[in-house]
Amino acid sequence: MTDTLSRTFHIVTLGCSKNRVDSDGMAHLLRGRGMQPAAAPEARVVIVNTCGFLGAARDESVGVIQEMLDARQPGQVVIAAGCMPALGDYASDIPTGVDRVLTTREWFRIGEVVGNLLGERVEPESAGCQGMLTTFSPTEAGPSAYVKIADGCDHNCHFCTIPSIKGRQMSKRPLHVMAEIVDLVARGTQEIVLVAQDTIRYGADLGIKHGLPQLLESIAEQVPNLPWLRMLYIYPSPLTLRMVDVMAQHDALLPYLDMPIQHADRTVLRTMNRPSDIDMTLRLIDHARTKLTDPVLRTTLIVGYPGETDAQFQTLYDFIAAQELDHVGVFTWSPEPGTKAVELDLPRVPPAIAEERRNAIMEVQQGISLKKNRALVGQTLQVLIEAVGEAEDDRGNSEPISVGRARRHAPEVDGMVFVPGERPVGELIELEIAEATPYDLWAYAPGVERRAARPNDTHAATGRAIRKRAKTRRAMTNRPERRGGRPLPVIQPAAD
Ligand code: SF4
Repeated sequence: MTDTLSRTFHIVTLGCSKNRVDSDGMAHLLRGRGMQPAAAPEARVVIVNTCGFLGAARDESVGVIQEMLDARQPGQVVIAAGCMPALGDYASDIPTGVDRVLTTREWFRIGEVVGNLLGERVEPESAGCQGMLTTFSPTEAGPSAYVKIADGCDHNCHFCTIPSIKGRQMSKRPLHVMAEIVDLVARGTQEIVLVAQDTIRYGADLGIKHGLPQLLESIAEQVPNLPWLRMLYIYPSPLTLRMVDVMAQHDALLPYLDMPIQHADRTVLRTMNRPSDIDMTLRLIDHARTKLTDPVLRTTLIVGYPGETDAQFQTLYDFIAAQELDHVGVFTWSPEPGTKAVELDLPRVPPAIAEERRNAIMEVQQGISLKKNRALVGQTLQVLIEAVGEAEDDRGNSEPISVGRARRHAPEVDGMVFVPGERPVGELIELEIAEATPYDLWAYAPGVERRAARPNDTHAATGRAIRKRAKTRRAMTNRPERRGGRPLPVIQPAAD
């Protein structure tokens, strides 16, 4: 390995958006030590930022670490970071041979850890747990950026391992959040996506009342040149009403409510240790629909939870059919050791039944989504262009094609908008919707003559072509809610 390569790193990020933010933070710290990113085979330091949320995610994490170890070059260092090492029960599953493990609460120590492994003189990192909320400016500001405003969770949902991985919630100070956003917007980011385990509870640990609504108002007022601000993971709570009121007052606050409800049957919700007042959930949905212009509602669900009867599932099914939400992700329950759910003295739902229930929800939701997407045909939407690729039809003809998202699409989990031609990556442009599928939309610039290529001819080819030319991230096999279980790579801004 040459001297140049000895100062290189490669990070593989698995799991959710919160992990992505931590990876950006690690990259920032390593660059600060004079290191440069490189492809995995050439990098001196390879970091796998693992996900430990579900069994499938842990399997994927182990598989990727093993892949890196199998391909390890002489002198290469392999580090396992992220959620999996934080799970005591699973830390021992990390393949032998890794040089260091670093939990999700220690990622900010990466500089010290790498320095030690490379035999350099380093000062020990003195930040305590608060270090995991380190503010940093990512070197590559893309069109869209996640900003983690808190980490950890104070709830105790009985199916969830997150509190045991992350501990209690710790919020980033409002001034630090603001500084991060100002920096990103100054460098061209058009969309900021605020994330936490329970975003609506932001600031409670700092003693701030109504932390998220206040933060949103501050951002809208102090960063007037930010076009899109989105929040994900809003736990159903009365504070959501106030947040929606603030959203309604500022155009930059996208009218997008991502509120995971998990189920609609009171008894199931109680056994999940989730808010079981489904009337309150309905009030929150109604409030969003009343107050917001063109509201977009997303939720996630769990089916096949212990004890879920046919009638209880039917309650959920009827709820989804009646509410006509815009985006719905469905998990089948996964028995995660260490969670209360596995100890419940309730009958287990056979996996085949759970899968049937999931398919039934996805099927009814696909019809709803298609209806909603078709209603957009002929409308002009603002679209954030994120990548440019080439579409190739079955006859081998190719043409450039751009891909972006409308206000109704959160990154990674919702649909996309495809538009023929090469559009400037990172720009917000007005496009007319021409075709709709349950997930994606096809659009043209208003007034532009439509080409002969039709979505049905080009869809598969488009996916292939975009994947080929754009930088893509690993398929999120551990996030089955994505598009109802069909993993799809996340499209990043085109490298060229
Ligand atoms: S709110 Fe519930 S599901 Fe979400 S991270 Fe906290 S414990 Fe887990």
